[in-house]
Amino acid sequence: MPKEVDLFVIGAGSGGVRAARIAAGYGASVMIAEEYRVGGTCVIRGCVPKKLLVYASRFADEFEDAAGFGWTVPDAKFDWPTLIANKDREIARLEAAYSSTLERAKVSVAKSRAVIEDPHTVRLLATGETVRAKHILIATGGAPHNGAEIAGLQHVISSNEAFDLKELPRRILIQGGGYIALEFAGIFNRLGSEVTLVYRGDNILRGFDDDVRAHLRGEMEKRGIKIVTKQIVTAVEKVEHGFCVDLSDHESFTVDQVMFATGRRPNVKGLGLEKVGVRLGETGAIEVDRFSQTSVPHIYAVGDVTDRVNLTPVAIREGHAFADTVFGGKPTPIDHTDIATAVFSEPEVGTVGLTEAEARAQLARVDIYKTVFRPMKATLSGRDTRTFMKLVVDGSTDRVVGCHMVGPDAGEIIQMVGIAVKLKAKKADFDLTMAVHPTAGEEFVTMREKASSWTREAAE
Ligand SMILES: Cc1cc2nc3c(=O)[nH]c(=O)nc-3n(C[C@H](O)[C@H](O)[C@H](O)COP(=O)(O)OP(=O)(O)OC[C@H]3O[C@@H](n4cnc5c(N)ncnc54)[C@H](O)[C@@H]3O)c2cc1C
Repeated sequence: MPKEVDLFVIGAGSGGVRAARIAAGYGASVMIAEEYRVGGTCVIRGCVPKKLLVYASRFADEFEDAAGFGWTVPDAKFDWPTLIANKDREIARLEAAYSSTLERAKVSVAKSRAVIEDPHTVRLLATGETVRAKHILIATGGAPHNGAEIAGLQHVISSNEAFDLKELPRRILIQGGGYIALEFAGIFNRLGSEVTLVYRGDNILRGFDDDVRAHLRGEMEKRGIKIVTKQIVTAVEKVEHGFCVDLSDHESFTVDQVMFATGRRPNVKGLGLEKVGVRLGETGAIEVDRFSQTSVPHIYAVGDVTDRVNLTPVAIREGHAFADTVFGGKPTPIDHTDIATAVFSEPEVGTVGLTEAEARAQLARVDIYKTVFRPMKATLSGRDTRTFMKLVVDGSTDRVVGCHMVGPDAGEIIQMVGIAVKLKAKKADFDLTMAVHPTAGEEFVTMREKASSWTREAAE
């Protein structure tokens, strides 16, 4: 007789672990399968190791900036293998913590790839065992997608491998203009690599506010990152000392490492979804409704495999809401609006709400407030850098519909501003809020002069 459970979760990442734990808390019998490492992308090869590498890279500027404040820092030396070993230790600690959380919640963990055999049966490939489940949750996440086949693609690494390089590349070419490409460009640049970023579009960070994109690009270039836009990598060839990379305009670069961060695809291949009739969208993502229910009523999907908003807190929230809905008797839809997010590039980006372009497309009147200033720390350090901040306001209601920042601590600042935006705060509320001085964040509540005003009638 196959084992029977109330819930079988496929994938022990951000969404799956949360859903399993909460469902078990409601009294459901739960089994979760993980084919790689418990914790998923975020813990093992995403947010967490990435942020640790970002911290490491930022010491370079700290050492340099210290001189202006009276410090003499002896020649600082960096050792990549030490960083990677320490990062690995922390990841292993977190993985163990996730496993014991599941154990404490009485979730049974199968270290195996799982596939759907029939609408209520899942097979564990490691043992061949089958498990009958009343409900199935697919939380298999996504994986790097290196784009179209080109000569030498086998030499290219993705973010997965970048976390485990044996040595710091002296020269690296990164293809991509999204947040993962930019974060790794910043990490390698600050750690001392020569970085070339190649992106097919006309500017980096598509989908973000245009002023943010322009400002960040300028700051990254100031730090010595070579940014090549409107080009793609057409071939990668192994040469004696590294790789020769050809671009579409026939320019070529010789580097020690080539990394693509050209997007991620939902992990649906070979899962058996077609067999049971789970519908996929055009991008290959699992189609779900507001409750994360798929086209098969007892099968749900959360996180990156649904390609809604691919961020850890979103996957966690979706997993929690699924458990509340199905096992807690509290139908909980997910609200994907006004999600604050950060790009841990150098400098950092923090953003929430609408871009100026989106606001113009949706609203009749848009007021813009923005400021560019030298961060206080840069006065004594002498670093050539500027912080950028912008508010997008609905000119008809005075509601702040977008906040954007490029500068130190932008992620931390935007998390808090995100509450005000979620509460539908007006510009007048921002103005009423007393500043915390001297901070960068205070600029969000002290911008008085409109930089521009746009009305639909005037534009038409
Ligand atoms: C480099 C990088 C940096 C990132 N940085 C951030 C950040 O700073 N902030 C942020 O919010 N988000 C970040 N993300 C995104 C974040 O990691 C994901 O949005 C999040 O992990 C999605 O969670 P999930 O539960 O959907 O899937 P995942 O966490 O990917 O978990 C899915 C799990 O399912 C397993 N699996 C897949 N198929 C099967 C199968 N058939 N059987 C068993 N197991 C299976 C996988 O091995 C994996 O462990 C980053 C991602 C990357 C790649």
